[in-house]
Amino acid sequence: FWSKVELGPPDPIYGLTEAYKACKNPKKVNLAIGTYHDDSGKAYVLKCVRKAEKLLDSMRLNKAYPTALGNERYRRLCEELALGRDSQLMKNGVLASMQCISRTGALRVALDFIKSFYAGKKVVYLPNPTWGNHKHLIRETGLAYEQYRYYDNKTVDMDYRGMLDDITQKIPNDAVVLLHGCAHNPSGHDPSRTQWEELSDLIKQKNLLVIFDLAYHGYASGHFEVDAYAVRRFVEEGNKCVIIQSFAKNMGLYGERAGCLIITAESVEEKRKILSQCEEIIKSMYQYPPIHGARIVEKILGDTGLKAEWKLEFKLMSDRLMSIRRTLKTKLQKEGSIRNWDHIVKQCGMFCFTGLSKPQVKRLIDDHSIFLSTTGRISIGVDNFRAGFWTPRSTTLFMTD
Ligand code: PMP
Repeated sequence: FWSKVELGPPDPIYGLTEAYKACKNPKKVNLAIGTYHDDSGKAYVLKCVRKAEKLLDSMRLNKAYPTALGNERYRRLCEELALGRDSQLMKNGVLASMQCISRTGALRVALDFIKSFYAGKKVVYLPNPTWGNHKHLIRETGLAYEQYRYYDNKTVDMDYRGMLDDITQKIPNDAVVLLHGCAHNPSGHDPSRTQWEELSDLIKQKNLLVIFDLAYHGYASGHFEVDAYAVRRFVEEGNKCVIIQSFAKNMGLYGERAGCLIITAESVEEKRKILSQCEEIIKSMYQYPPIHGARIVEKILGDTGLKAEWKLEFKLMSDRLMSIRRTLKTKLQKEGSIRNWDHIVKQCGMFCFTGLSKPQVKRLIDDHSIFLSTTGRISIGVDNFRAGFWTPRSTTLFMTD
């Protein structure tokens, strides 16, 4: 039956991890991982998560099936985190939200829904670059995608002018545009508030449907309210939005797959219809979302004390990332690198888009056992910098141009 099946394409990040595991160099480092590690080099479980799990355990909850749309209270808390307690749409009860299998699952449900029901142009415009799996998900859903300019390799900075021009000239009215809500992956560059405002006006004029990927909510500034500026502004200004959210990164619940999809509707009736169709999609895919991760989130966001602890703990994590960025930049300069490394501290979030070329990345991997994505993206959160990342074995390379 399967003799004609060909080997699928290798996963770039998984491939690097495998190569890292196989590498015998005791000084090897893996900077490709997308998880936050603490000073001991291990994936970090937040204290508030441990506390919430203890509380849940003491409640002796059962493991019965949830509904297809998931935990009701969790969904309200997700809406509140993304759009704020004062959100008019939330008060009007017109947010069609559902618990999904993290952001990836939320995006897949959203894309299926768009494919079947969106009345506008079914082409999704992605930033260039973007998270690799965006393209894959869109392709697998059977939709088309194009890209708009976002980042300029030459200036190692955001290409806001290019983005604006592409949205104005290249993207047709009524199409779909995907925006990273904050801490863009992989570039680490976000539009400023004024630029977001300009984008919101333009996108509204063009009647585009916006998919907001809130992957790194909190990681840009360390504050959830500040980081929600773009999404809240767009929603308040009346843009049609689809928001995908998860607690993988900001609560460290990667494998728990606690996500949420929020679609802004125009009336309670429209919301009911959207939810009923999404429910059909979910039932045909996986029937019910997983219960445990959402319960952890519900416990934390639904309890004033635990929520405050989470915010504090998360702020320490994001401050630490910023301090690692500063250290990295200073050490490179101290080692004598003549290259301009300002972008390391100008960027935000979990990753640093180094600006290293493909051949330089290859040399770092082959000659120095420093494993990083071919795009030049390194994970700040894994904290391998303290483990000698800038020792002469690599800085000579960094210093070459
Ligand atoms: N969107 C972006 C921009 C991401 O970087 C990631 C994860 N690396 C995801 C979505 C997927 O997130 P999740 O693990 O919540 O499915």
